[in-house]
Amino acid sequence: MMSLKFLALNAVASFVVGSSVSFPRGFPISVREDRPFNASLPNVTIFATGGTIAGSASSSDQTSGYKPGVLGVDILIDAVPQLRNVSNVRGVQVTNVPSSGITPEILLNITRQIQQELDSPSCQGVVVTHGTDTLEETAFFLDLTLRSEKPVVIVGAMRPATAISADGPINLLEAVTLAAHSGARGRGAMIVLNDRIASAFFTTKSNANSLDTFRAAEQGFLGFFYNIKPKFYFTPALPRGKPYFDVGNATNLPQVDILFGHQGLNPTLASAAVASGARGLVLAGMGAGAWTLEGLNVINDAIEKSGTIVVDSRRSMDGYVPPYGAGGYGGGLLNPQKARIMLQLALNARYTSDQMQSLFEFDG
Ligand code: ASP
Repeated sequence: MMSLKFLALNAVASFVVGSSVSFPRGFPISVREDRPFNASLPNVTIFATGGTIAGSASSSDQTSGYKPGVLGVDILIDAVPQLRNVSNVRGVQVTNVPSSGITPEILLNITRQIQQELDSPSCQGVVVTHGTDTLEETAFFLDLTLRSEKPVVIVGAMRPATAISADGPINLLEAVTLAAHSGARGRGAMIVLNDRIASAFFTTKSNANSLDTFRAAEQGFLGFFYNIKPKFYFTPALPRGKPYFDVGNATNLPQVDILFGHQGLNPTLASAAVASGARGLVLAGMGAGAWTLEGLNVINDAIEKSGTIVVDSRRSMDGYVPPYGAGGYGGGLLNPQKARIMLQLALNARYTSDQMQSLFEFDG
């Protein structure tokens, strides 16, 4: 029923926002204040960024090859009238892009807008709609740069809004229900998809196509939804050693590139990255962070001559990575894409070598 409504709204959507959406970065585009207000319900603000949850295809049986980031936030909200049973929702369109298009500037803009909202006594929780491809990066960034006990929930969808059995409407309803729930406070940023509640710190996209893609294989889920109501396995807790970074004055973040380890790797890619402006490198190493001897020579050279900061991570799905080559920091439990965000933030905060070490090398 809801996805049919989404489908019907698609015609309106392409009329309202058009098919080639390009919004100026850094400014809310649409904030509609005319929805009925129920003073007994919590207030939740939805920050929309695009992705498949706002995606549109030409037919209901198309679940790939569609256009993400087409529908505006008001259309997403109006397509799920049940949202009004759990909260007063307000939509802010931050951008409307596939999540591969999220840049450091957009991240800085979102976190500032969200912090402002969380600081307001009239806001009880925040939801961010986002493409799933890089959702874990934005969620991790928000987890490290927001300071509030209030729930922050990042949500996406694996099927476009026009698809048969689209998952966006129920995911959005569950995300808003969670953001409005007092039991969700003090748990850091959370990811909601497919009836699961996951920690933004540990969770990663594990499958390119399926609905149950978000997982933290070792750490597990925080909870689940039963009849669209959140149920938690644990009392509120935060990951050990989770830092906070104040990015209030940042206008951009330092360039950090990821290199992928494999047999016969090209050692010169490291120097090419440094020459193009990388201040940091994250190595998605083999096994527990292994790199080739030739590759390590180039990397050590970059460390010595350019002061490049290197973090050793892994191409394997899970596991702990100690420092591998001389001069690099062990990435601990972080996958390469999360280690990259952490390194950008640490470089921006001008961390010392000792601070870098204790930041990355999780001491358990
Ligand atoms: N291409 C989409 C995106 O990340 C995929 C998704 O949202 O699932 O924007």
